[in-house]
Amino acid sequence: MIISGKDLSKSLKEALKCHVAELEAKHGTTPFLAVILVGEDPGSVSYVTGKAKAATEVGIRNTTMRYPETITEEELLAIIDKLNADDDVDGILVQLPLPKHIDEQKVIAAIRPEKDVDSFHPVNVANLWLKLPGFKPCTPKGIIKLLDSAGVEIEGKEAVVVGRSNIVGLPVAKLLLDRNATVTVAHSRTKNLGEVTRRADILVVAIGRERFISADMIKPGAVVIDVGVNRDSRTGKLCGDVDFEHAEAVASAITPVPGGVGPMTITCLMENTVESFERKVTK
Ligand code: NDP
Repeated sequence: MIISGKDLSKSLKEALKCHVAELEAKHGTTPFLAVILVGEDPGSVSYVTGKAKAATEVGIRNTTMRYPETITEEELLAIIDKLNADDDVDGILVQLPLPKHIDEQKVIAAIRPEKDVDSFHPVNVANLWLKLPGFKPCTPKGIIKLLDSAGVEIEGKEAVVVGRSNIVGLPVAKLLLDRNATVTVAHSRTKNLGEVTRRADILVVAIGRERFISADMIKPGAVVIDVGVNRDSRTGKLCGDVDFEHAEAVASAITPVPGGVGPMTITCLMENTVESFERKVTK
């Protein structure tokens, strides 16, 4: 079975569009998302374009604020301050990575946690680990929705997450743990990675290496979620961290790249923006 993030996103966005229309009828306005893009990195430009398109599709007002690579940290922090103070702005997203002369952590920490729809702010990270209310980070949230949509039982299952980044590996491990999976987190220093991944009923891979997980590293019947986004060195096309072509025959269900986790990340960002607006209007 192919778990299509593209299809699930489509239906979630349709439902969200109706919800936003209801909110507009009730409150006379819609959520507003401000996206900040520094520089011209093609990957970042494409991600930001996708986010703006999705926002417009569901009726979220949005703006993409573009700045040159040469912007100073101070100038960027001043822009965030203004957006923080603007009650009309529900979500602030700074597209990462930022140029080297800007301290990313400082910029993320400058966003008011209530508007941090990416959920990277230390307060939101703490809320996740303490099981307190707050935004869930978009990619991990999208992964759980994909598993649920495919009818995958998570409770009691062996889940292995390969990758321990702050934005994917660690938070997805936490969400799986919250759903009562038995979770192992593997990384670049893990010994005998194949032995570890072969234990997984649910295997989530977020490494950033083209087709790194081969079919023989997957337990027959496992559910495989491929987060990786890489350029195929042969064809130049997008590909995941899993050797999809061969893994498909071993796994019981698997996400494709593109069309798997990626669209879900964007859809969950839209959900978080609407959630932020709803919190504001019901305060
Ligand atoms: P990071 O580079 O921050 O983290 C990569 C992780 O993979 C690290 O924990 C690293 O281990 C681990 N790793 C690297 N090499 C190996 C190896 N040989 N064996 C085992 N583990 C290894 O990446 P991100 O988490 O930010 O992203 C991972 C991938 O997911 C990328 O391709 C990225 O583009 C994609 N992505 C996709 C999204 C989507 O919406 N589809 C959203 C976000 C990311 P260690 O900690 O030891 O260095």
